[in-house]
Amino acid sequence: MAKKLLMGNEAFAHAALEAGVNVVAGYPGTPSSELVETVAKLHADGAARDVHVEWSTNEKAALEVLAGASYCGARALFTCKQVGLNVASDALMSLNYVGVRGGCVLFVADDPGPISSQTEQDTRRFAAFAKVPVLDPSTPDEGFAMMKAAFDLSERYDTPVIVRPTTRICHASTFFEVEPETHGRPLPEDGFQKNPKWVIFPKRAYEGHGQINRRLARIAWDYDNDPALARFNQVVEGGGEGAPRVGIVTGGVSSAYAREALALIEREAAAADLSVPAWRLLAVGTPYPFPAETAAAFAEGLTDVIVFEELDSVLEEEMLKLAGVRHLSLRVHGKLTGAANDRGENTAEGIAGRLGRFFDRTSGTDGLADLAARTIGANHLSYEGPLPVRPPVLCAGCPHRGSFYAVKQALRGREAVLCGDIGCYTLGNAQPLDAVDTCLCMGAGITMAQGFAVAEPGKKQVAFVGDSTFFASAITGIANAVYNGHDVTFAILDNATTAMTGSQPHPGTGVTLMGERRRPIVIEEVLHGLGVQHIGFANPHSLEGSVAAARAAIDFEGPSAIIFRAPCIQLKKPDAPVVINAEACTGCKKCITAIGCPGIGFDAARRGPKSGERGQAFVDESLCDGCSLCAQVCPFGAIEGAPKAAEEGGAR
Ligand code: SF4
Ligand code: SF4
Repeated sequence: MAKKLLMGNEAFAHAALEAGVNVVAGYPGTPSSELVETVAKLHADGAARDVHVEWSTNEKAALEVLAGASYCGARALFTCKQVGLNVASDALMSLNYVGVRGGCVLFVADDPGPISSQTEQDTRRFAAFAKVPVLDPSTPDEGFAMMKAAFDLSERYDTPVIVRPTTRICHASTFFEVEPETHGRPLPEDGFQKNPKWVIFPKRAYEGHGQINRRLARIAWDYDNDPALARFNQVVEGGGEGAPRVGIVTGGVSSAYAREALALIEREAAAADLSVPAWRLLAVGTPYPFPAETAAAFAEGLTDVIVFEELDSVLEEEMLKLAGVRHLSLRVHGKLTGAANDRGENTAEGIAGRLGRFFDRTSGTDGLADLAARTIGANHLSYEGPLPVRPPVLCAGCPHRGSFYAVKQALRGREAVLCGDIGCYTLGNAQPLDAVDTCLCMGAGITMAQGFAVAEPGKKQVAFVGDSTFFASAITGIANAVYNGHDVTFAILDNATTAMTGSQPHPGTGVTLMGERRRPIVIEEVLHGLGVQHIGFANPHSLEGSVAAARAAIDFEGPSAIIFRAPCIQLKKPDAPVVINAEACTGCKKCITAIGCPGIGFDAARRGPKSGERGQAFVDESLCDGCSLCAQVCPFGAIEGAPKAAEEGGAR
């Protein structure tokens, strides 16, 4: 074994490989992406043998690839973020009815906050909706153990299993003992076996539903009794003398925070000579199906329970149900009663404050609420002051800036609706570009624009979409526009990568995650094949050409497209920064107010013959990428040193 400092997601990759996973597929999305990348890296290094790993075109495609592999007996691992499961849900719902053969684990990372997502949805809720068992780690170590247990559970019951960490579990780092080299489990020699059960029909679905219900009951029993799974549900006691009357129920990372908060309260109470009531804590690592027997044993003798969990009130509702079904005299406090955060992330200090109030209110202790508040302040665990405002912004030199600016210029004098999408280009919404009026979900801009075109035919609709999203979710929407003849323009911002999630390859790059080279799927060929009659090209760093190409596409009657093509700044060497000519700068600020590049600012103290007392622009050389957009925007030719951009992005 080798000892390694690993991020949670890296550790989960090792765990899956040690479990003999054969096929790994997913679609990038924070906070989940590093798992697939770690598998790919270990495979490239020769440390993970006999494994296939891929970024699929979207989550649904990934899960369907894995379903096929699982039917052959392969162990299969799916990864995505919580909203990605929405895309894969069609496949998941049916897959659960059909069942799996090789262990099929869905690693779905939730994003409380949300820090980088469009929703705060709770995958535990989705698991219950889909009737798929879920494991919910409270630490990266526990997640490591859960990944392995999930494959065994999946094969024991022929069911997909979800492992659902949250952001802090995915991104926290700790030391792990890992196998230096792993091998995919040998596949069964009999391979795929034809069987009517692989074909979903209404009658088969009815039978499958019964099987699901029966196996969920058995899995709930395992969660209570099988040591391999029951170890993920822990009951601990602490505090003062006597039998506990109050309890704490936690799940996920909130279990770790609650333990930390309890230790903090006990330490500070001892120092202040205050008494802490006896308490009992239940940390639930297997929230669905709910381990009711474990929870009932935990609740024995308790009068009040407070529940700490992130996102939805899943455990709280289970405790309420338990109290109702078993006629327990138990008051349940949590999100539904206002005793816990109704959304967002928990923290150890936040839970300490709420626990102090809970103990004082329910146990007759005095001063714990004040103590917790004082302790939090004394330990500087929380920051109460206003945080500096850091609005998300397109990088200096980002080619999308020129694309947005060119489209806005081309639309001057026309009423328009600009539909955005998920990716870096959502940031086109910010001032001064103000080029994104809507953003709903992956691929939605393409089809929403068509709805606007129907409802408001007097306006022009432009839908922006990135190259990765084009392959993930835009193609059917474009087919819809051609089929129904919607008069919209698709602005495809092709920066040759999946930039927002860390520069992953996609079908247009021609490189797979396993390092193989394929003929790239060419966006214009797809558009042509779909029947888009006008396809223009532009290099977004060339302003004049971009505006002309955008205008031609916008003026076309019917579905049209313009492909803005220039690589993400992460993929290329920066050019030399531009320079402000102090003799020519008038201090008009157009370079700042037109495009909003963080590489250029304004210094009110600078003086020059044309600017007088107004001040002048300056370039931050540490940020400037030398893209030249500001030089093309400056009406006085005061920005120099920019390389000349090619006139056209050009077809591939
Ligand atoms: S660099 Fe050009 S656009 Fe910027 S403030 Fe000076 S004159 Fe105006
Ligand atoms: S050249 Fe101008 S627009 Fe481009 S990165 Fe530098 S400051 Fe920003």
